[in-house]
Amino acid sequence: MFILKGKLLRFTKDIINPVKIILLSILFLVLVILIKYKPVYLVTLSGETLGYVTEKSELDNKINEYINTKEGTVALIDIEVMPEYTLDLVSRNEETKENEILEEIEKTAVITYRTYGVSVNGEIKTEVDTEAEALDIINNLGQDVEEGVDFELGYTEIYTTEENTSVPEDKALEVVSEIKTAKVTEYEEEQARIAAEKAAAEAAAREAARKAAEAKKSTAVATSSASYGSHGSVNGIAISNPLKTSPLITSRFGERSSSRSSSHTGLDLAVSLGTSIYPIASGTVVTASYQGSYGNMIVIDHGNGVQSYYAHCNSINVSVGESVTTDTVIGTVGSTGNSTGPHLHLEIRINGVAYNPQNYLY
Ligand SMILES: [Zn+2]
Repeated sequence: MFILKGKLLRFTKDIINPVKIILLSILFLVLVILIKYKPVYLVTLSGETLGYVTEKSELDNKINEYINTKEGTVALIDIEVMPEYTLDLVSRNEETKENEILEEIEKTAVITYRTYGVSVNGEIKTEVDTEAEALDIINNLGQDVEEGVDFELGYTEIYTTEENTSVPEDKALEVVSEIKTAKVTEYEEEQARIAAEKAAAEAAAREAARKAAEAKKSTAVATSSASYGSHGSVNGIAISNPLKTSPLITSRFGERSSSRSSSHTGLDLAVSLGTSIYPIASGTVVTASYQGSYGNMIVIDHGNGVQSYYAHCNSINVSVGESVTTDTVIGTVGSTGNSTGPHLHLEIRINGVAYNPQNYLY
């Protein structure tokens, strides 16, 4: 009993030791604090309070995890401002908000997307998610393109902060395919146009060559004999070919020959005997008879002082005073009078003066 009392005394003495009292008080206080409060980190982002987290390393890890999770076309996630932590004690009832804080931080992230633009002739026409898809489209549509078609495929990486600019591969393929069809059609139409132009130019060249050959031929005819037809007029009277065929000019106006002492007053046109003679213009018959060296001669008055002479005729088919047109057969070619062979001696006179018929004919 005594011993027990002694121990109790010693114990009491221990308890009242001031140092121990202080230590015990602190211990008690800490216990109370730990029961009521918990240590947490206050998270702030650019000075703005976001809330509490238990472990700062945990939030940092989650942020890093988020930055490194590049799904789909995400190429880069950049969080420019990292959160700041302050150690704090809060009531154990206070809830920490790791997930909400992470979401808030994610909202500040700048996301860069990478797509693959498929280009036609250097111009991007559509975007797909992956390089493989871009190459697939190029291999699919870049083949069998006829040379000359304006259709060159390519691809390029595109970095953008805009989301969802790419389309599924089949959709992209359709877009590029339509452009290809249009380019091929454009090329074919152009080729057809060129071919048509070429054909037209060739046809024009052939026609020009044909005309040139024809012109050459008619020139040749004109030089060998005389061209058929008429030209010009005398004192307003249109002149036409009295033989309606191409005669051979055997003696020209003004020529002298051994058989004539004076200058030739007409034009000698050799054709076969009996060829029909027509007036050079309509008019009235003023002479239709044998006239010495002229042989059988017809003279027609056309008015305006113009008269035409048809000499050496084989026959005379008209009479004086008769009206004739360029369709009237007034006589036929012969060799009467001073003539060495069948020919028409034609004269055109204005007020009795002979003019060169070749001014108007042949
Ligand atoms: Zn003559």
